[in-house]
Amino acid sequence: MTTWHDYLKEEGRPLSWPYPIRFEKEQKIETDILVIGGGIAGCWAAISAARQGLNVSLVEKGNTVRSGAGGPGCDHWCDAPANPLSRVTPDDWARHMANRPYCNGIGIQIQCREDFDTLLEMEQMGGKIRDTNDEYVGAEGRDDKTKFMISPRYGTIHSYFPDPRMGEPNFNPPDKRNNVVIRVWGSTFKPALKKECERLGVNIFDRVMGTSLLTENGVQGARVVGATGLNNRTGELMIFRSKATILATAGAGSIWLMSMEHGGYSNMMSRTASGDGTIMAWRAGAELANMEANGIIRIATGLKHKWYSGGGDASYENVPIVDANGKRLPYPIQGWEDAGAMVPTPEVAAKIREGILKGEYALPFYGDFPSMKEVERNVTWKLMLGEESTTKIIINTYNKAGFDPSRDMLQNYNFIEGQSLPQWREAGYGGGLLVDWNLKTSLDGLYAAGTQMFSPEDHSYAAATGRYAGRKAAAYAKEIGKSKLSRDQIEIEKSRVYAPVRRSSGIEWKELHAGISRVMQYYVSEFKTESLFQIGLDALQKIEEETVPTLYALDPHKLMRSLEDISLLNYAKIIIHASRARKASSIPLNLQRIDYPAVDPPEWNKYLTVKLEDNKVKIGELPMTFWGDMKQQYEAHNKDYTGVYRGK
Ligand SMILES: Cc1cc2nc3c(=O)[nH]c(=O)nc-3n(C[C@H](O)[C@H](O)[C@H](O)COP(=O)(O)OP(=O)(O)OC[C@H]3O[C@@H](n4cnc5c(N)ncnc54)[C@H](O)[C@@H]3O)c2cc1C
Repeated sequence: MTTWHDYLKEEGRPLSWPYPIRFEKEQKIETDILVIGGGIAGCWAAISAARQGLNVSLVEKGNTVRSGAGGPGCDHWCDAPANPLSRVTPDDWARHMANRPYCNGIGIQIQCREDFDTLLEMEQMGGKIRDTNDEYVGAEGRDDKTKFMISPRYGTIHSYFPDPRMGEPNFNPPDKRNNVVIRVWGSTFKPALKKECERLGVNIFDRVMGTSLLTENGVQGARVVGATGLNNRTGELMIFRSKATILATAGAGSIWLMSMEHGGYSNMMSRTASGDGTIMAWRAGAELANMEANGIIRIATGLKHKWYSGGGDASYENVPIVDANGKRLPYPIQGWEDAGAMVPTPEVAAKIREGILKGEYALPFYGDFPSMKEVERNVTWKLMLGEESTTKIIINTYNKAGFDPSRDMLQNYNFIEGQSLPQWREAGYGGGLLVDWNLKTSLDGLYAAGTQMFSPEDHSYAAATGRYAGRKAAAYAKEIGKSKLSRDQIEIEKSRVYAPVRRSSGIEWKELHAGISRVMQYYVSEFKTESLFQIGLDALQKIEEETVPTLYALDPHKLMRSLEDISLLNYAKIIIHASRARKASSIPLNLQRIDYPAVDPPEWNKYLTVKLEDNKVKIGELPMTFWGDMKQQYEAHNKDYTGVYRGK
């Protein structure tokens, strides 16, 4: 069979390639604010900067209308404690959410204070956030006055958070009804965001991949004054000159795992999340934090269902689970007691496992939709599952096949799918750019938002921090002029970017990607020691020196994929540098070192930072709550902000 690859090799580029090829040609764009990444955080950043009357350019690798992890949808708007039904104050909830090690207290405070304002703004743009058609009257959590649909999420899950290392008592809500999470029609959000960007005159550059940041005089560590991008359809080089730049390209997926046939090469997050923004900032000299954090991969890989498994978790939050004989499991307990906790407590999980082994529970388990009240079933099946990407595909497929949730049960894959392999890891929700209370990075002129920052949270966090970063970057840009771009720096980037198209043979991006993932699986997985780290670094170095110079791409799309691999390679190296710098094991960071077995010893309760200085890796450290008093700091930095919550 002739593959597309063979075809290109044998026949050359087809005449019908729908876009003109413009490799090495340049297009120059002047802008006040440059936003790189048109996902949730990026769109919000662009909108809020444009509302300040500035000229804004938005660069997106895919198509802004649906790109990124939040593009297809979202069913939970989490941590909106300023909503009128909330039983907790934003500052109390922020303190509670930040009461765990290695989180981002700055982002959490911003989310808790401004996330409900962000949601109301989303409604003004055309996003649907209330049950305006009265479809779910009578459902638990629906408020008839506001028509908001409160989700049970974040009840008992937060009992996992208290941690004595944080030096502050855990905030104990009066009962499990905190009412901080709102069920939403999130599939309406991304189109509304793009439309609002267009209405405000944001220049959207879809299908452009940001490749590097440009700094004053081309110096590492200096002010960021623009960026380069590659049009992944034409191959043209885009050169942006800006007063302020906001990075919002999310984190990196696919570092440990390249799963071609299953989850679209990536794991959990969007395929486009290849760590580009982090690497652009790294090369420019920005400081990163928490890069040693990693986790076992989550949903949507195709390799396993957890958590999306037919009951009890995430969008299925209050679907009861029964065993093969219809016997109820002790999780979740209908009635919101623990619905929304997403995973059973370790004690309950152990009890279920024991029950299976003793024959008390028969496998497989099922999500018992028929036993639910009709309105609750509809909320889950139609709204929650229908508004998210992976689950929308699941319900559409089942609906087509004649599945009827009022009659049929949905199989749950817990226990029968086995455990995750320790080699299936992800980095996406750990490390990222270090930011201050203006969401400014350690580089002047450079801001970050959403998953681009260290220790990020979820959709509404990305939205609220994007909106905030846009506001702050605009304030900075109003006070500063543009700077000259360094032609030398552009030339160096140009030869890096186009190297793969200047060759006609060698290896292609897929092989390279698979090689990087293998190195990480072998040397940076379950067993971690100084010498394994060194072997991993040497192997990546060898790939960089011997294999990358043979990388070739025959069209602009493959060129983009090749450049993504180079981002992944660099990202992998940073993970190893940060991991080996932490001479201790840590549960929250998922770092188990054989040579340093002490788990979270007090002297290691601190963030590690990492950056390039004169192209050499420099490790630094910060105290666990380096952001100071969250409420005070937020208020000091936002004196003019007017939102629903005015503080106490
Ligand atoms: C299946 C699924 C369900 C989810 N459900 C929920 C939910 O119900 N509630 C919730 O709170 N959260 C949910 N999340 C998480 C939520 O989607 C993310 O937290 C959120 O999208 C993060 O926003 P972001 O802007 O940081 O990243 P994204 O939204 O992923 O945006 C990053 C953007 O950057 C672009 N990009 C990447 N590299 C480049 C580059 N080099 N140049 C230009 N552009 C680039 C990408 O194409 C993308 O558009 C879900 C995630 C998934 C995958």
